[in-house]
Amino acid sequence: MINLKNIQNQKWLGINISILGAGKSGISAAKLCKFIGAKPFISESKNDVKLKEILSNFNYEIGGHSNKVLNCKLLIISPGIDSKVPIVQQCIKNKIPIVSEIEFASWFSDTPIIAVTGSNGKSTTVNLIKKMFDSAKIKSQLGGNFGTPFSDLILFEKRNPNLIKINILEVSSFQLEHVYHFSPNYSIILNISPDHLDRHETLENYLNQKLKILKNLREPGWLIFNSGDILLSNQLHDYERKIPFSQSYSDQALLSLNKTKIYYNDSNDVLIYFKDMGLRGTHNIENILAASTLAIKYGLKHRYIKQAIREIKPLNHRMEFVQEIDGVSYYNDSKATNIESTIAAVNSFKKNIILILGGRGKGKASYYKAFKFKKEKIKYIISYGEAGKMIQDDLQNKFKVEFFKEFQNAIKRTFEISNSGDTVLLSPSCSSFDQFKNYEERGIFFKKIINSKNKQC
Ligand code: ADP
Repeated sequence: MINLKNIQNQKWLGINISILGAGKSGISAAKLCKFIGAKPFISESKNDVKLKEILSNFNYEIGGHSNKVLNCKLLIISPGIDSKVPIVQQCIKNKIPIVSEIEFASWFSDTPIIAVTGSNGKSTTVNLIKKMFDSAKIKSQLGGNFGTPFSDLILFEKRNPNLIKINILEVSSFQLEHVYHFSPNYSIILNISPDHLDRHETLENYLNQKLKILKNLREPGWLIFNSGDILLSNQLHDYERKIPFSQSYSDQALLSLNKTKIYYNDSNDVLIYFKDMGLRGTHNIENILAASTLAIKYGLKHRYIKQAIREIKPLNHRMEFVQEIDGVSYYNDSKATNIESTIAAVNSFKKNIILILGGRGKGKASYYKAFKFKKEKIKYIISYGEAGKMIQDDLQNKFKVEFFKEFQNAIKRTFEISNSGDTVLLSPSCSSFDQFKNYEERGIFFKKIINSKNKQC
């Protein structure tokens, strides 16, 4: 077996490595395996004909995990696969070391890493950080849980030596599950709220996975964390190399806010006025504080940081403005797949919100307790999908709620009940998997229906 304690001296030529899951990161890990001379075997539970073509350059099986998986010295597990599944349990019994794709990829590069995790805001923050490095003309790569898998970034480095100065990675709790040596130079934790409890079972387990991002912080590494997040702050009391960011004043923070701007704590110089920021909503102020704190600590010049904050645009499906039709504004926030992200989206508007909630729920969630908004703020809630009925039952004593099984009917209902001045906000709090392949497909479907309404007008 591979000795995880002695990775530096490991020879890879001809070593069998099994990979569970033929998603993007699994295939990317397999390419990296081949590059180092190892022999990857990909095992995928789905039986999709398209996969046959994609996997044709590899040894693979689809439609289930057979005992062939056990014929290896290392198992790379994809983030979507729960360790409780029988084949993983069998690997554990056979003492096969199990690592995540980011752990594996990290063994083959010394390029500094910025790793960003948290329940919400990861993609927005890594994109902003990338933009800051681009503005400063420092060659960086962006990937991980967002976009390009880490193994592909490493392959690019191997083929283009000495080019990349820093890798910026979005890291999910699932990716951190099987991490041992993964060593960022800078780690950012944006916030922690209950999410994915269907898999992690308890908040404590989820929190412990997220905190693994600190495990091997490279000297002289820094943790940048949201000190306004009490749950998170409480975990970090004894951690020394940390810099807070927060919407409330902290003398240890590098940046502070007042009503109109973000400014440097030490000089009182303005970093940026809110009106000049490319992202809206108080939650995005936190993302901007996190990215800017990192950039200052890294040593980027003020003008590059500011330029990036001005020029950044929201990513698709994150508070994305779709259209205004007859005075009604439509926003696509399909990526909001937990309650906290929906709360952040609702807080970005003053009143007259028609909120679409629903999809597939993730374990127990009490909307009633979490939705502390005034009744006037949310005019209507339209719930839909697998979790829709539960949401209706939970919230109907506080808000006007209607339930539709089909997403399409939920959207169409908003056309009937909205008036000029209203905001229709798809910020569903749930995953999309009951009716769509992913949140992107759901967001695209939403936009298509809104745009076709406009054509009919
Ligand atoms: P992630 O990659 O962590 O899922 P995204 O940047 O894609 O985060 O944003 C997902 C959703 O989370 C957004 O649509 C927005 O509603 C919400 N969100 C973004 N940043 C934050 C934040 N700092 N705090 C709370 N919610 C946020």
